Amino acid sequence: MGKTVLIVGAGLYGAVCAREFTDAGHRVMVVEKRNHIGGNCYSEYDVQTGCHRHVYGPHIFHTKNEAVWRYMNRFTRFNHYVNRPKVMFKGKLYSFPINLFTLYQLYGVVTPQAALAELEHQREPIVNPQNLEEWCLSEVGREIYEIFVKGYTIKQWGRHPRHLSASIIKRLPIRLTFDDNYFTHPFQGIPVDGYTAIFERLLDGIEVHMGVDFLQDRDRWIEESDHVIYTGAIDAFFRYSHGVLEYRSLRFESEHKDVVDYQGNAIINYTEENVPYTRIVEHKHFDMNFSESKTVITREYPVDWEEGIEEPFYPVDTDRNRELFMTYKRMADLSGKVTFGGRLGQYQYFDMDQVVAAALDISRAFIAGVL
Ligand code: UDP
Repeated sequence: MGKTVLIVGAGLYGAVCAREFTDAGHRVMVVEKRNHIGGNCYSEYDVQTGCHRHVYGPHIFHTKNEAVWRYMNRFTRFNHYVNRPKVMFKGKLYSFPINLFTLYQLYGVVTPQAALAELEHQREPIVNPQNLEEWCLSEVGREIYEIFVKGYTIKQWGRHPRHLSASIIKRLPIRLTFDDNYFTHPFQGIPVDGYTAIFERLLDGIEVHMGVDFLQDRDRWIEESDHVIYTGAIDAFFRYSHGVLEYRSLRFESEHKDVVDYQGNAIINYTEENVPYTRIVEHKHFDMNFSESKTVITREYPVDWEEGIEEPFYPVDTDRNRELFMTYKRMADLSGKVTFGGRLGQYQYFDMDQVVAAALDISRAFIAGVL
């Protein structure tokens, strides 16, 4: 017999679970605190440019998981966008992520062998790097670290790279080829009619209530449901009883410009410490649509997060936060009726494809009676 499943949050994790539970014959209701679906993937159609603006920062879908790619393609068609950001530092543009062309721009090397020899010359002999700074110095040396990483990371995290874990950056490739694709996954693209349309299709026919703060009436909601999928912040669920988990937040400033193309690329990172934003995003490059004579750009400013004021974006990976999360996770594991999912529920930075995979796993296990 179908169960009553309440889903808290209409972001990617919640929407995929909602679709799966509904298709398996359960009664699903979604409650969402914001006044729109899609979580941070939410996009808005911009009439002046005929493009979709990524309201909470640029989202590029990429995956190596073919099942996830096929699943997403049920709900959208993707264009052939490939992410090739550039870096601007002290008025000079660089190819990014670091590749043979970047090394040519910096050192004049033209072959992989010469580039490798140059990198070996640049590297600092740090045997057991203990933090992000030491890891960069030991991999690429001081010049690359200072141009590409130091300022950007200080702005992004509000902390010196000496006080951050190298795991933050290890996902960025360093290549000795001219390949400047930011991602290494075989599937990549931008939904042709925006991210929000994916959520409209995922949630088609499902009861969704906007502007509802689940936590205000948490116990009643739980009592009235057979199961709850909660995708909000885990510490907020437990009323911050052991303390507040820290996040890094972002402020976005969007502006229309009277030109067809403002910067020639979707993303340009500004890595200097004294430029207050980390990047400028020009949205029409994602849609690959240059039919209108106007463009819309967004400057992205990292900011400290304050509970209840800014949106939480990036979990901050420190010992204190990891331990605090584990405390909440132990409490969550005891609350049998509630599953905690997604970036805020699991206090972890996930790419979109990881979220889809996790939501499919959880809902299918639950539906099969394994959970
Ligand atoms: N990073 C950097 N310089 C750049 C871009 C990224 O130093 O120009 C570092 C920075 O510490 C950042 C991390 O690499 O937090 C991961 O970057 P990524 O682009 O994966 O972050 P996202 O855009 O997904 O937030």
